Amino acid sequence: MSYFHELGLAEPILRALQVKGYTDPSPIQRQAIPALLEGRDLLGIAQTGTGKTAAFSLPSLHRLAQDPKPRQNAGCRMLVLSPTRELAAQIADNMRGYAKFLNLTIQCIFGGVPVGKQARALERGVDILVATPGRLLDLIDQRALTLKHVEIFVLDEADQMMDLGFIVPLKRVANMLPAGRQSLFFSATMPQAIADLGRQFINNPVKVEVAPQSTTAERVEQFATSINQAEKQALLTLSLRAGLADDAAENATHGAIDRALVFSRTKHGADRIVRHLVAAGIPAAAIHGNKSQAQRTAALGGFRQGAIRVLVATDIAARGIDVSGVSHVYNYEIPNVAEQYVHRIGRTARAGATGVAISYVAPDEKPYIRDIERLTRIKLEPLALPEDFQNQAARLPAPARPAPAQPQGSGRGQGGGRSGGQGGRGGQRSDRPQGDRQAAGGEEGERKRRFRPRGPKGLGAHKGAVRRAG
Ligand code: AMP
Repeated sequence: MSYFHELGLAEPILRALQVKGYTDPSPIQRQAIPALLEGRDLLGIAQTGTGKTAAFSLPSLHRLAQDPKPRQNAGCRMLVLSPTRELAAQIADNMRGYAKFLNLTIQCIFGGVPVGKQARALERGVDILVATPGRLLDLIDQRALTLKHVEIFVLDEADQMMDLGFIVPLKRVANMLPAGRQSLFFSATMPQAIADLGRQFINNPVKVEVAPQSTTAERVEQFATSINQAEKQALLTLSLRAGLADDAAENATHGAIDRALVFSRTKHGADRIVRHLVAAGIPAAAIHGNKSQAQRTAALGGFRQGAIRVLVATDIAARGIDVSGVSHVYNYEIPNVAEQYVHRIGRTARAGATGVAISYVAPDEKPYIRDIERLTRIKLEPLALPEDFQNQAARLPAPARPAPAQPQGSGRGQGGGRSGGQGGRGGQRSDRPQGDRQAAGGEEGERKRRFRPRGPKGLGAHKGAVRRAG
């Protein structure tokens, strides 16, 4: 019998949890679920990885199922807003699992895919809608969606929403929500500006705070290697090669790699890292705002299944990626905001596991490390270069050169093409905030420069070299 039954959740939900294999509620679930079942508003200070999705989903599903209502055309009873496509898709997937034995419909909408199909899916109304803000407002403006029937509203990752410039869209949403609804507001951090935003949504909330950021940081072994920017690629390739080798447990300096997530500051940089790794025989994929939705889904799927054990991501694309078994996080560039470092290393050491984070620190990045150490109150352990680093580096193969950037719209040899919803696409409006377009711009505004490797294109081409994890 699971301890979830003590929280008063309905039987079909308990059954779904059993199927998932959850026995104990996590701290945020234990604190939040009773208050949410009573219909209270909630202010949650929690990161992804704490079980917050179930914390807001389980009581909401319970309340919706206990009070069945007919669907309203273009309406929804519960609205969950998420800053990125990946997180939205993940939340919807999780909710479908929890609602497996309930008669509730769940729809997920985000930018980067055609809007028409999403509008049609909303015609007869749905029970639960998970959305990114830009696409949500598009559908509202097209009169394909109304918020007037919302009973439960969840704003997830509010701090990330602010970083992505969603403040005006969120204010619009706040004005459209009916007064009597229940509101849940989650953020990993709660500076004044976020607290002010929260006040627009929540009323007399129960406050729940879990896993202060240092807790994750303490479970991760953290190393820093001083290295020139120009040598980082060689070091990464050699480090991954050693960590992924069959004898890695004995020989790699920082343990065998199950899955590694590499953070690059720029989208172009992420692509370049992947090209180098692939040239060196290490299957890898990049995930960032210039990738099409299909490419992102394929990359994440391959990573989840272990077909690709190295994923190179920009911060925004990686936000909320929920993959268990990320054993190593590499900071190819050091984030200049210390909180971002904590978010990054939080991708490993999930669910109580331990992980390894390795930062490559160029001379001009040293001040960022000092900020990080001040925030986490943990000193990064120096990790020396391998003894014969220069020799090994000299023997690494050069990657295929990227194809020269094509003039806009030529599309020649572009494979999946540019991702939709990122501005400038024929016929699409690019003058208003839209979830994923903002996300892409927020990364580093590289929209115009697009390079594709001449050799392997996309994931399919890597498959031959892919090694399955055991
Ligand atoms: P979240 O913070 O919502 O992204 O959840 C992090 C991960 O923990 C997800 O993979 C969930 O499926 C999983 N999870 C959530 N609640 C529980 C629980 N009570 N027991 C075990 N796993 C859980």
